[in-house]
Amino acid sequence: MAEAIFKRLCLIGIGLIGSSIALRARRDRLAETIVVQTRRKETLEKAKARNLGDVYTDSVAEAVKDADCVILCIPVGAFSQVGERMGPHLAKEAIVSDVGSVKRSVIDQLRPHLPDHVHLVPGHPIAGTEYSGPEAGFTTLFDERWCLLTPDAGADADAIQRLTAFWKALGSYVDVMEPDHHDRVLAVVSHIPHLIAYNIVGTASDLEEITQSEVIKFSASGFRDFTRIAASDPVMWRDVFLHNKDAVLEMLGRFSEDLSALQRAIRWGDGDLLFDHFTKTRAIRRGIIEAGQETDAPNFGRYTIED
Ligand code: NAP
Repeated sequence: MAEAIFKRLCLIGIGLIGSSIALRARRDRLAETIVVQTRRKETLEKAKARNLGDVYTDSVAEAVKDADCVILCIPVGAFSQVGERMGPHLAKEAIVSDVGSVKRSVIDQLRPHLPDHVHLVPGHPIAGTEYSGPEAGFTTLFDERWCLLTPDAGADADAIQRLTAFWKALGSYVDVMEPDHHDRVLAVVSHIPHLIAYNIVGTASDLEEITQSEVIKFSASGFRDFTRIAASDPVMWRDVFLHNKDAVLEMLGRFSEDLSALQRAIRWGDGDLLFDHFTKTRAIRRGIIEAGQETDAPNFGRYTIED
C-alpha cells in the first residue's frame, strides 16, 4: 500500500467540505491520523457518528498540535479568530491550508498569526453542493473538479508539491493561481451567479400578483435551478460577499451594463442582438460539457429539489 501523504491531518471545521475530505482521506488512507475539530458539540457528535476521524476535539489549540497538515474548512469570516488561536500551537514545518471560497482575505487574516516555521499554501476546491454540515459530505465530491492553490511567490516548493499530491489523491485536478486573480475569476463564475439566484428567488417571492403556490407549481420553467443555488448556506455566502467585496462590486458593474444592453434590445425589439447573444452563450455551455464539468443529461443530471 502507498505511504500516507500526511502523518497527522487536522481538519478545522467538519461541514460539507471538511467531511468530504475526511471520508476520501480515510477511504484511501491519505493520512495516518485524522484529527477533527469543530466548535459545537452537536457537530462533533455528528462527525463521530459518521466515523470521520481518529481524534475529535472542540479545541483549536489541541487539534493542530503535532499536525503536519492543517486545513481550515470554516467560513471565510472566521479565519482571523481561528488563526489567532492556532498560531502558537502549530508544529514546525506544518503545512497550513484552507478551502475558503475567497483567497486574498483569508491570506490577510491568517498571515499575522502564523509563525515563520510553517508553510501557508491556501486552496479552494471548486466543488460543492447546497447542503451543509458533516452529514452532507461524500467521498467523490472532488472527483474531476478543480482545486486552485494560491501560494505566495516564495512559498515552499515541497509543501506545494505535497498538497498538490493530496488534492490529486482526493480526485481533483490542481492548478496554481495568484490570489487576487482567483478572487476576480471566482466573482464571475461563482459569486455573482449566487447573488443573482438569491436575488431572483427573493424577487419572485415578493411579487404580489404571483402567488407562492404558482411560484412552486411552475418552477420547472427555469426558476427551480435558481432555487437550488439560493438554498446554499447563508453564513458561508454572507462571508463570501463581505470578503470579496471589491471583485464582486467590479464584476457586478460589468454585469449591470450588459444587462442594460439586453434590456434595451428587448425594449426596442432588437431580435438580432438577442439572438446573437443567446447563440454565443449556448456555445459556452457546450464548452463546459466538453470539458467534463457538467452533463447534458436532462435536468443537468441532478436530483430535483423534491427528491
Ligand atoms: P459547512 O458545511 O457549513 O460547515 C462549516 C464548518 O465550520 C462547521 O464545522 C462549523 O462548526 C464551522 N464554523 C462555522 N462558523 C464558524 C466560526 N465562526 N468559527 C469556527 N468554526 C466555524 O461549510 P462548508 O460548506 O463545508 O464550507 C466551508 C468552507 O469551504 C467555506 O470557507 C466555504 O467558502 C468553502 N467552500 C464551500 C463550498 C460549498 O459548496 N459549500 C465549496 C467550496 C469551498 P460548527 O457546526 O461546530 O458550528
